[in-house]
Amino acid sequence: MADLGNPQQTIAVLQKYQFNFQKKYGQNFLIDPRVLEKIIQSAQIGKDDLVLEIGPGIGTMTQMLCEHARQVIAVEIDSALIPILHDTLKEYQNIEVIHKDILKLDILELIRVKNHGRPIQVVANLPYYITTPIIMGLLESHAPVESITVMVQKEVAQRMQVGPGTKDYGALSLAVQYYASPQIVAHVPPNCFMPRPKVGSAVIRLTRHPKPPVEVADEKLLFQIIRASFNQRRKTLANGLSNSGTIPCSKEEIEQAIEDLGLTSNVRGEVLTLEQFASLSNRLSQFK
Ligand code: SAM
Repeated sequence: MADLGNPQQTIAVLQKYQFNFQKKYGQNFLIDPRVLEKIIQSAQIGKDDLVLEIGPGIGTMTQMLCEHARQVIAVEIDSALIPILHDTLKEYQNIEVIHKDILKLDILELIRVKNHGRPIQVVANLPYYITTPIIMGLLESHAPVESITVMVQKEVAQRMQVGPGTKDYGALSLAVQYYASPQIVAHVPPNCFMPRPKVGSAVIRLTRHPKPPVEVADEKLLFQIIRASFNQRRKTLANGLSNSGTIPCSKEEIEQAIEDLGLTSNVRGEVLTLEQFASLSNRLSQFK
């Protein structure tokens, strides 16, 4: 049962198993072969690679991943999809389906056991209701993940890729760019899915930096500062940080550190680059 990635084959599988879409799991299955090809090509998977697929659905992209990779591990939360996957993937020897919530998976342990701790690739058409926790979980775990190639809501892809001074720039942009270099590789309209999502989608590839582009003494403080700056977007940076209650410095110390960076006292967080946030974090860590 190869070539699931078209409307006819997908409908045939859904009917065979009388499958009902679960909205709560963000189920929008891909039915466009060109989009599937584009994802596989952008993921740059080689015959030596272990690929983790999050949310395989009925196994459409999984089949293609099995053709390109050495080994595929697919993690699916919906128990109704497990027997379907066993059927659609039965011709492949290099697949393991794990019935689990991806947010509860110990990724470091998985990579240690299944790939001797060597870097893996992540590929997915993500469930949109948990896009950010999945991506941030993968990045913050410091697990050896070389690249993450995923379908996400268009606006979320935009937020990950943009720089300072744009309306989409925020904590997600900075967090992603601290760990990886993002590149939107395709825009995908709703009619490429079944059922059609209400939003536009995009495929983004995050290529992990060998080491972060900035050096910080205290990574936790950097992200506290970034979050506090964007939580109160309309406030000045100094007010946002001192009102947040999460930055362990006085208002005077915060104002001094901002001035030391050569920024004006009424500057807003949304214009700072990652480098400037890192410098601010390093100054404030001295006051702690
Ligand atoms: N990969 C398939 C495709 O492209 O046709 C399905 C993609 S669909 C957008 C998202 C998939 O993620 C669904 O199969 C859904 O059941 C699964 N999923 C949702 N939440 C999950 C979770 N917490 N852990 C693992 N899988 C999840």
